Amino acid sequence: MSEQMPAEKPLPKPTPGAEHYWESATREEFVLPHCRDCDQVFFYPRLWCPGCFSQNLDWRQGSGRGRVYSFSVVHQAPFPAYQADVPYVLAVIELEEGPRMMANVLHCDPQEVRVGLAVEVVFEARGEMKIPQFQPVSSQGG
Ligand SMILES: [Zn+2]
Repeated sequence: MSEQMPAEKPLPKPTPGAEHYWESATREEFVLPHCRDCDQVFFYPRLWCPGCFSQNLDWRQGSGRGRVYSFSVVHQAPFPAYQADVPYVLAVIELEEGPRMMANVLHCDPQEVRVGLAVEVVFEARGEMKIPQFQPVSSQGG
């Protein structure tokens, strides 16, 4: 096929309020936005608190630990760049701090992933960025 296809996985485009999240991730730091008015940690990062609409926000160090809340196994690559990864796991992770986020569960057999599986954050290099993803806590790979 000679048609121009995206050869690389798309990079996330930081939205307003999320710049610090992605800059931190690229340093392999996992941070979560926190509302100083209602003391809620939330996700995805944005310019105001989804609980009380306050803009009085700061950042908390995330534990990076969570559990699989729901997941699906992707068998058909959405882009050619994903072809080498299939089948892979796309999951909603419920973080220890409470918020939920979508991520891939890496470094595991997709057959072993189940709801409730304990996972920890791992940073996937992509271009000049790093993407927070998760892996089973039991896997000692590094
Ligand atoms: Zn709030």
